[in-house]
Amino acid sequence: MIYDLIIIGSGPAGISASLYAKRANLNVLIISKEEGNLKKAEKIENYYGLEDSINGKELQKIGEKQAKN
Ligand SMILES: Cc1cc2nc3c(=O)[nH]c(=O)nc-3n(C[C@H](O)[C@H](O)[C@H](O)COP(=O)(O)OP(=O)(O)OC[C@H]3O[C@@H](n4cnc5c(N)ncnc54)[C@H](O)[C@@H]3O)c2cc1C
Repeated sequence: MIYDLIIIGSGPAGISASLYAKRANLNVLIISKEEGNLKKAEKIENYYGLEDSINGKELQKIGEKQAKN
């Protein structure tokens, strides 16, 4: 498989970059040692668009699912 873009890291920055790359019809590969630092956040609140608080691990999973979709 030949990729247009290879992103190192699957934290919020890498996942966000992949979303925009896919929107630009690029074939993207993400390589990562592990999930990003967001998983360490116990509680995220007052974040635009989120009515309730959420923990970092959940938010990371949502981002990954969004990118896969
Ligand atoms: C304890 C804690 C609590 C936090 N709480 C909040 C909060 O409440 N709200 C908030 O907005 N932010 C919070 N943050 C900050 C948030 O986690 C970071 O802003 C965010 O994770 C940065 O995203 P990033 O993608 O730039 O980097 P990271 O999340 O650090 O992701 C880096 C990625 O690169 C990968 N990587 C690194 N080196 C290599 C390598 N050599 N080869 C392959 N892959 C590699 C890592 O495995 C990882 O997947 C918190 C952070 C911590 C530590």
